[in-house]
Amino acid sequence: MTSEQKRPADEPSERSAVVDLAAVEHNVGRLLELARGRTLIAVVKADAYGHGAPQVARAALAAGADVLGTAHVAEALALRAEGITAPVLAWLHTAATDFPEAVRQDVRLGLSGGELDLVLDAARAVGRPAVVHLKFDSGLGRNGATPAQWPELLERVRQAEGQGLLTVEGIFTHLAVADEPSRPETAEQLAALDAAVRAARDAGVDPAMVHAANTPGLLSAADLPDPDTMLLDAVRVGLGLYGLSPFAERTPQEFGLIPAMTLRTRVANVKDVPAGAGVSYGLTYRTEGPTRLALVPLGYADGVPRVATGAPVRIGDRVYPVVGRIAMDQCVVDLSLGRPVGTGSQEQSVRIGDEAVLFGAGEDPSVAEWADAAGSINYEIVTRISPRVPREYVGVEPGSAHGQNRNAQRRGHPGAVTGEEPAADSVEAPGVDGGRGSGRRRRPASWRVPWHRT
Ligand SMILES: *Cc1c(COP(=O)(O)O)cnc(C)c1O
Repeated sequence: MTSEQKRPADEPSERSAVVDLAAVEHNVGRLLELARGRTLIAVVKADAYGHGAPQVARAALAAGADVLGTAHVAEALALRAEGITAPVLAWLHTAATDFPEAVRQDVRLGLSGGELDLVLDAARAVGRPAVVHLKFDSGLGRNGATPAQWPELLERVRQAEGQGLLTVEGIFTHLAVADEPSRPETAEQLAALDAAVRAARDAGVDPAMVHAANTPGLLSAADLPDPDTMLLDAVRVGLGLYGLSPFAERTPQEFGLIPAMTLRTRVANVKDVPAGAGVSYGLTYRTEGPTRLALVPLGYADGVPRVATGAPVRIGDRVYPVVGRIAMDQCVVDLSLGRPVGTGSQEQSVRIGDEAVLFGAGEDPSVAEWADAAGSINYEIVTRISPRVPREYVGVEPGSAHGQNRNAQRRGHPGAVTGEEPAADSVEAPGVDGGRGSGRRRRPASWRVPWHRT
């Protein structure tokens, strides 16, 4: 798909992050295949890694994701405010987290231990049990109960379940080095999780679902001797939804994923300069010979990393490097240093108003190239594209499933507002519904949906 086809209007806007929701749907279908029928928790924290949380959430649900994941309760409540009623799990809290509202609005809570009293207070105040996923620290050293804290947490949780204040729906952990599949620590973490789950069952805490895999875990599971040890009951996938690869040496294409975000603008100025001309603050770049420069009106206020000098910008059929420092609002490419993309021409004249693409899908420069130039990772590049850059959505027809939560209707998810709880056996197996059908899931009617258990 070329960027021209993605453009929503004939006249492209000044600058935008174009988010292709059909790509998100495609990626969800692909991830569901890799997950082999496991529950897919679509991670839409941080405004869906900069792509727009409500839009991505609706697309992911329409394509078959089961659950949404956020870091903060506030992010989960923002999805509710958008009318999204699907199950949501939020896992990073403070003493200032609005636990009562989370319980009231049916937000599942990751529970590490320190917040337990506040969660129990909230359950008492609201008059219904908090639904939690116990977080076990199997080696990442961030959140979650350590093996030493685990027995006491289990005991307190078991008591709270007995008092009707808590329902333990899941146990989960987060992997530290899954993006480096050759390292041994991932298997150690999974073994530690397995022991923690067995200890929980022995202590009378019986979770319906256990989950560990993030995007790199899911994408590398097929290479394991036993993929089940990684896939467990559910996978929590963020980066893959957005069509990006977590591995330094492997592209999204290798996994059948399509990058969803295209960062583009239009050339603001073109000028001829002599040899030795300085470019941008600090004059850190000087032209080798007489050349032509193009001004690209995106800078660090737009979330383009200031340190990413040398990163590629596609204009027409050629890719040019950013030269000199990236400024707040703009950066400069040297048009004498271009290389053709694909079957692109050797010669072209760049004009004011031409489309300039920093990264995207297909033959556009990749997010990975920008990450390399910035000494960062693709996660950070897309997530930090700032609110100054309007998001434009393509790949979705007006009035289609994204306008409402089709998945919630189809799957009979509990209504967050009404509190309706359909019986598990009333959950329909999703059919092959109309529209863009890539990768939509068929499941046996007997498929267990633990989200309806409580
Ligand atoms: C962000 C996050 C994820 C998603 O990670 P990806 O690598 O983007 O798939 C999963 N689980 C937890 C706990 C997270 O914080």
